Amino acid sequence: MDITVIAETTGDGLHPVTAQLVGAASSIGGTSTVLCPGGVGAAEAASIAGVTKVISVKGDCFSSFDGGAWAEALNSVAGGDVIMAAASPSGREIAATMAAMREIPIVQDATALGPGISVTRPIYSGKAIETSTISTPCVITLRANAFDAAGGGGNADVSTVNRSADVAVAVREAIAKASERLDVAEADIIISGGRGMGDPANFSHLNEVADIIGAAVGASRAAVDTWDEIPHSMQVGQTGKTVTPRLYIAVGISGAIQHLAGMRTSKYIVAINKDPDAPIFGVADYGIVATWEEALPALKAELRKL
Ligand SMILES: Cc1cc2nc3c(=O)[nH]c(=O)nc-3n(C[C@H](O)[C@H](O)[C@H](O)COP(=O)(O)OP(=O)(O)OC[C@H]3O[C@@H](n4cnc5c(N)ncnc54)[C@H](O)[C@@H]3O)c2cc1C
Repeated sequence: MDITVIAETTGDGLHPVTAQLVGAASSIGGTSTVLCPGGVGAAEAASIAGVTKVISVKGDCFSSFDGGAWAEALNSVAGGDVIMAAASPSGREIAATMAAMREIPIVQDATALGPGISVTRPIYSGKAIETSTISTPCVITLRANAFDAAGGGGNADVSTVNRSADVAVAVREAIAKASERLDVAEADIIISGGRGMGDPANFSHLNEVADIIGAAVGASRAAVDTWDEIPHSMQVGQTGKTVTPRLYIAVGISGAIQHLAGMRTSKYIVAINKDPDAPIFGVADYGIVATWEEALPALKAELRKL
């Protein structure tokens, strides 16, 4: 069972209840993906045993608490069968908003979980205890200190999705992270465009970026099949070329399994896509949720400064 845990943060780190949420998820046989609002505590979350993936969710909205805005940003990234959050005031608000957005059931303030999924919680101000069974997909908030915390020693992958309205900030962060990891001496870089580029003429924007950073330009099969101007020699994927560059930038590419087959072993993947649910974000180390019309000018401007 895939469980998405919304990390409870304290401003500059994780609240201890986050490890308890992961422990509770493991107790019902779940594997946890932890979402860190604002990117807070991502490294800490990656070290919790039982966490398979951490997604650092960045965005302007995380500068101060706004349950609706946080829920919207987190909802676009959350997947899986169950979403778990702490039964704190902020956790409850985010959880309830996400359940409403998805039109799925929610149980607040659970104190025990069992297979099935059975959920136990106090009702009538603690005068009675209710145990009910909830179907998936669902949202559950858990009371702090009611569950054993998962231990340390984990080593989960951390990826980042940036939902900033200010795309330039997201681009700067992506470049900073990519440059941290790339050895310039052997920088083999590919920037690829998909059908989301809208018109073959728009590949000129990819060519401009490629000229600045010495990259090759690739394409998805949909782009190659749709437009005669984009040659098949550019196609990356199962029936195209298999590439393993140190940096792969996917622009307007959904991330179909056949495309991923050709590029998922790239050392560092940056994705630009207007759809927060695009599968490409599942393999991206850094995702920018924006149109290429917004993101590429910012990318060009930042790269020219380097
Ligand atoms: C046997 C077989 C082999 C295949 N081999 C390959 C292969 O080798 N390589 C390959 O790529 N595919 C291959 N495919 C096709 C694959 O299944 C997909 O259809 C293809 O990868 C989709 O390409 P795409 O992501 O460019 O297009 P789409 O699926 O149409 O996605 C376009 C994306 O662009 C985004 N977008 C739209 N407008 C904008 C904008 N303004 N700014 C930012 N984002 C925007 C959308 O949100 C969407 O995610 C194969 C399929 C089969 C059946």
